Amino acid sequence: MRFSEIPGLDDEKKILINSYNSNTIHHAMLFIGQKGSANLSLALAFATYINCQNRNTDSCGECPSCSKMDKLIHPDVNFVFPVAPTPKINKEVISDKFIHSWRSSVIESPYITVEDWFEIYGFENKQPNISKDEVRNLVKKLALKPFESVFKINILWLPEYLHLSTSNAMLKILEEPPGNTLFFIVTNNDQKLISTIKSRVQSFKVKRFLDEDMKKYLSSHIDISESEVDQAIYLSNGDINKAEKYLFVSNSEDLNQLKVWMRACYSQNFQDINNQVDWFNSLSKIKKRTFLTYSLKLMREALVSSIDESLSKISDEEMSFISNFRKTLKQKEFEKIIIILDENIRYLDRNANPKILFLDLSIKIANLFKKVKA
Ligand SMILES: [Zn+2]
Repeated sequence: MRFSEIPGLDDEKKILINSYNSNTIHHAMLFIGQKGSANLSLALAFATYINCQNRNTDSCGECPSCSKMDKLIHPDVNFVFPVAPTPKINKEVISDKFIHSWRSSVIESPYITVEDWFEIYGFENKQPNISKDEVRNLVKKLALKPFESVFKINILWLPEYLHLSTSNAMLKILEEPPGNTLFFIVTNNDQKLISTIKSRVQSFKVKRFLDEDMKKYLSSHIDISESEVDQAIYLSNGDINKAEKYLFVSNSEDLNQLKVWMRACYSQNFQDINNQVDWFNSLSKIKKRTFLTYSLKLMREALVSSIDESLSKISDEEMSFISNFRKTLKQKEFEKIIIILDENIRYLDRNANPKILFLDLSIKIANLFKKVKA
């Protein structure tokens, strides 16, 4: 991520760049900003700048280091963020084990909120945190010298999720950091940090985005009318994440397309399926994801509401589709659709070919219908 990719905030960018060029970077910086602000993206852009082999007023975006930073795979940049146990990962629950999903989520939107992250990973009813195991792992990593760069940079996203016992362990690291180690701690709420940690870090306040900066950014990223952009900005109070959600939120069009798609799969009509594949392929990446996530959400709702309708949180129109749809499948096939939708969202995040992905998904769903009908 380069500074130039972040809209506005010229003062913040200048302070960071100057601190590097005057050799006065504090070894532990606390990037404080509201949800949907540039706190994380500025930390990423700063790390990219520091590691760039050809930096000027911004990182070059082209050197080997920048290209690794773009994919968030630089060996000298380490990420720590809140996680929770899952059925597959239930021992030593640390960020490294969730890094693939985290990378793709942050690359997709550097303005991601903690709720988005928990939802993307499906932590749902768990209480994610940053555990003692995490700090132990961090200590191990800090013992190693940087591989390629001058600094080892640790980006700790959301210290408000540090366990109290972890906070104390973390404090020790911050008090006596190994040489050439930087900590960029990114928070939405510095009030939640223990005062001993706060006294060890240098606060760096990240202002909320100005409306005009958000407008430039959103208009250049999304093919959408000016009035819709204005409306989203008006409703979001400097929070880019919120503004994007207003613009991308699944709508009645998604429900209509889902109906057409499921009908095509049900009737095994491959001409109709192909039409849906072409439609899906014509969407922007984020809209493809929105559509699949919406489909997954409705299927999950259908499963939940088959147990108890009062648990469901969907509109009447969605409910009527779901009630009819439910009759066409048995529970086992239903669960399978949920699993393959979930899998395919991850494949999409990992840049699978969307046309092949959607065709394959359609055939699998069509086969599940076939099984039930047989
Ligand atoms: Zn570079």
